[in-house]
Amino acid sequence: MIRFLDLHSQYLSIKTDIDEAIAGIIRESAFVGGAAVESFESSFAAFQQASHCVAVGNGTDAIEIIIEALGLPGGSEVIVPANSFIASSEAVTRSGCRVVFADVDPDTYLLDPGDVRRRITARTSAIMAVHLYGQPADMEGLRGIAAGHGLRIIEDCAQAHGAEFKGRRVGALGDAGSFSFYPGKNLGAYGDGGAITTHDAALARRCRMIANHGRIDKYNHQFEGRNSRLDGLQAAILSAKLPHLESWIEARNRVARLYLAGLHGIDGLLLPKIGDDVRHAFHLFVVRTGRRDELAAHLKQAGIQTGVHYPIALPRLSAYAYLGQANEAMSANRIDVELLSLPIGEHLAEAEVQTVIAAVRSFFGADARG
Ligand SMILES: *Cc1c(COP(=O)(O)O)cnc(C)c1O
Repeated sequence: MIRFLDLHSQYLSIKTDIDEAIAGIIRESAFVGGAAVESFESSFAAFQQASHCVAVGNGTDAIEIIIEALGLPGGSEVIVPANSFIASSEAVTRSGCRVVFADVDPDTYLLDPGDVRRRITARTSAIMAVHLYGQPADMEGLRGIAAGHGLRIIEDCAQAHGAEFKGRRVGALGDAGSFSFYPGKNLGAYGDGGAITTHDAALARRCRMIANHGRIDKYNHQFEGRNSRLDGLQAAILSAKLPHLESWIEARNRVARLYLAGLHGIDGLLLPKIGDDVRHAFHLFVVRTGRRDELAAHLKQAGIQTGVHYPIALPRLSAYAYLGQANEAMSANRIDVELLSLPIGEHLAEAEVQTVIAAVRSFFGADARG
């Protein structure tokens, strides 16, 4: 069986460190907040080249808290890519703003700045750049638009730890970035976790207060916030994993290069386009074909697990019927039925990647590599 994700093999590869991290937190009873969380915040800020990091309960909360801290006017519009996980848009609505979907580029699957420009109205307050699948969105294009219209930029980096746009890491390229440490993400906790990164000290402080009941010290609450904190166990586990993240991202890039070389030139199969001057974190390796379900079934038969990200474009979800964007002629609304995620990760040996390549080629009746 070639697994899509193998968290157990990753655990075994760093078992001593993880076990010691967990035992240390239990020994200290440092279950919420404390030194382990602060230490993780400073190492993760350094890893993402951000001045500040605020750890929170999960990646969805991270987006909501950023929007609240930015003080976007209630009812204002936030432009969100039509191809993403629902958390990106859900956080907008839950923060009292209105979602406006913009199309993605059909080759990179990332927010199309041209379409963003067309969606701007007098009520637009922010753009959500989602670095989907681990590839940075066109931050230069988006920053230009934001500057021209006085808009904020939030980066959803849930899939893009360590990714870079023109040599700079994502997360502090706009106003603030949100990260998820859901177990299956490139940097995953053993439960839920998330973080906010920014260069703006005042914004970081507001986020920290919102995530911790609006307080500045134990019972001094400046306003009503909420409870969204990273726990000590997750922080210690994440700190034990962080030193390995670079090599895991490199391993993902090696798998991606094998796929790009081995699956090149197959009629009916589109490979992901990688932007110039980006470092892709390859959380997912997504191919496109009109025969998606057949290909997935063929690979399953061959013992190869695949995934679909995401089977229904956001505007076509029942949750967003009220926006009336389901039938817009956007590429996102059309290609959702064609996307297939192949296995990728440091758990895969080169021979396994070649097995996947051979199985895909045999499905399309393409010769063995050539
Ligand atoms: C995982 C994910 C989130 C949400 O993160 P959680 O920690 O699960 O709340 C947000 N956006 C994207 C693009 C994601 O993949």
